[in-house]
Amino acid sequence: MMKKILCVILSAVLMLTLCSCGGGLSANMKERFSSSFFDVFDTASTVVAYDSSQSEFDNHLAEFHAMLEEYDHLYDIYHLYDGVANLCTLNETAKDGPVKVDERIIGLLNYAKEVYELSGGKTNIALGAVLTLWHEARTVSNENPENAYLPDAAQLKAAAAHTNIDDLVIDEENNTVYYADPQLTIDVGAIAKGYAVREVCRYAKENLWTSAAVSIGGNVCTLGYKNDDGKTLWNIEIENPKPNASQALLTVQTENMSIVTSGDYQRYFTVDGKQYCHIIDPETLMPSEYFSGVTVICDDSALGDALSTTLFNMPVEEGLTLIESIEGAEAVFVDREYRQTFSSGFEKYIKK
Ligand code: AMP
Ligand code: MG
Repeated sequence: MMKKILCVILSAVLMLTLCSCGGGLSANMKERFSSSFFDVFDTASTVVAYDSSQSEFDNHLAEFHAMLEEYDHLYDIYHLYDGVANLCTLNETAKDGPVKVDERIIGLLNYAKEVYELSGGKTNIALGAVLTLWHEARTVSNENPENAYLPDAAQLKAAAAHTNIDDLVIDEENNTVYYADPQLTIDVGAIAKGYAVREVCRYAKENLWTSAAVSIGGNVCTLGYKNDDGKTLWNIEIENPKPNASQALLTVQTENMSIVTSGDYQRYFTVDGKQYCHIIDPETLMPSEYFSGVTVICDDSALGDALSTTLFNMPVEEGLTLIESIEGAEAVFVDREYRQTFSSGFEKYIKK
């Protein structure tokens, strides 16, 4: 139910956000087209692109959607699909011995190990055992608010003993994955969408559209310039984490950039009047409480997704030090009182 409501709200926000960028015929007579879909990565997606005709756009969109759907199936930790060894397969069987997987899974898992290092362990896909307990509590609590509960501390601690990313053994020569700890499970929610969006958008830029803005559940990626005119920037609204805010947090103007947000309003549940978000601090094993939202702008959507989750999980001073150390990446932090802090180069993106 929550997911459905979330989808409707998200789609409304995204439609408004991306539609406000449109502008009829472009300089080279390409037209603006848009479409929304709700069947990949369990979220709402919108594509706006400049193309030569409706049928060309439809063909290109079908290719874009099919690619994204393949990534979604490969990276799904909750469902199995016929003829595919995906992350759900790994979580069920990789403890018994090496499982051969698609290169796109090897790519994501290797990237996840890099992210673990970059984040100082704050973003750890091997936290599956802990995240499952939070996921169950969120699902039950949202479905039956009268039975809302928090995971048991002792159970969380026991689960945390099985979250060592080194137990995720990747054999790149044979494209296999093995779990050295039989109780290890992985959860790629922090990085998979951004990684998939990066890969699919790279393909789209070379093969489908020179001018497009896509939002896959809040992972926004802009390709080229708006209007396909080589000069007009895309306007992308960043959602305001403040409930019932009448305006977007701010509008950024970009070309060939990704804008990725992690927010406490995206997936949460309430117990005894207190709200608990979906990003878990690996040290406390509790939901992070530093921010309402963190948005990252950079030219790599995989990095943007990894960084927004990571920054969400650390004090603002630590986050600023991290973001300033990464060339070309900027962030805005919105704390729980809705005060904003910007990294040093963020301002150039803000629409005046
Ligand atoms: P995002 O919305 O990209 O910030 O990712 C949030 C998702 O990442 C959650 O729904 C969990 O699936 C997963 N997650 C939560 N906390 C962590 C963490 N500390 N490390 C890795 N993944 C996490
Ligand atoms: Mg993320």
